[in-house]
Amino acid sequence: SILIDNVSKNFGDFQAVADIRLEIQPGNLVALLGPSGCGKSTLLRLIAGLELPDSGQIWLEGQDATRQRLQERNIGFVFQHYALFKHLTVAQNIAFGLEVRKTPKAQIKARVEELLGLVQLAGYGGRYPAQLSGGQRQRVALARALVVEPRVLLLDEPFGALDARVRKDLRAWLRRLHDEVHVTTIFVTHDPEEALEVSDTIVVMNKGRVEQVGSPVEIYDHPESAFVMSFLGQVN
Ligand code: ATP
Ligand code: MG
Repeated sequence: SILIDNVSKNFGDFQAVADIRLEIQPGNLVALLGPSGCGKSTLLRLIAGLELPDSGQIWLEGQDATRQRLQERNIGFVFQHYALFKHLTVAQNIAFGLEVRKTPKAQIKARVEELLGLVQLAGYGGRYPAQLSGGQRQRVALARALVVEPRVLLLDEPFGALDARVRKDLRAWLRRLHDEVHVTTIFVTHDPEEALEVSDTIVVMNKGRVEQVGSPVEIYDHPESAFVMSFLGQVN
């Protein structure tokens, strides 16, 4: 599990993440939901180890992650704007994390084929990122993050830059992918509909704090604060 143990993060005198305590169960697909500026990306970056907390601890499977080096944490990260290597093919992009780990060539080839199948891009390995649609690129980014079998997958508005129809398709696809792979996943969104449709658990954030944690049904049927009620009220 992931335990975020009273974590705070300030930028100057602004508290971006304010004493958050949160436990995430293994294999869960969690949506981190809240308005712009509420601290979602900061919390994700703290979990990824890209930022250090000012106070509190983050435990990954019982180990104090703030003391681990990035590679030991074994976390997969996908950002809103795809950061694929433009000069590498799709297959080379996916293989990157394995090349770094000096995995044998034959093993890399088999694993890349497997991942291409998983993200429904079999036959696309020889293409370059510029020859793909936005949705296809994000699926490559997901394959690249998954190839090293991360313990945790962190997705920061992975579909945010895509148009509404593609987003809707990818949501359903992410749900199916998760049902297949079962990796603990935290998925940032400011779209209540996306959170309700995709996740097992929703964490609603506001102004650096956690407002409510629950299943989509619990959050939708029993909002515990005026904030959650009005924020969820934007669903139509
Ligand atoms: P969005 O939905 O717009 O991506 P968010 O919920 O991801 O928003 P964060 O990026 O976590 O929000 O930012 C939370 C707050 O912390 C914001 O007010 C932001 O301006 C501030 N902030 C984030 N990173 C930094 C930084 N490196 N330096 C200073 N302030 C920062
Ligand atoms: Mg953000």
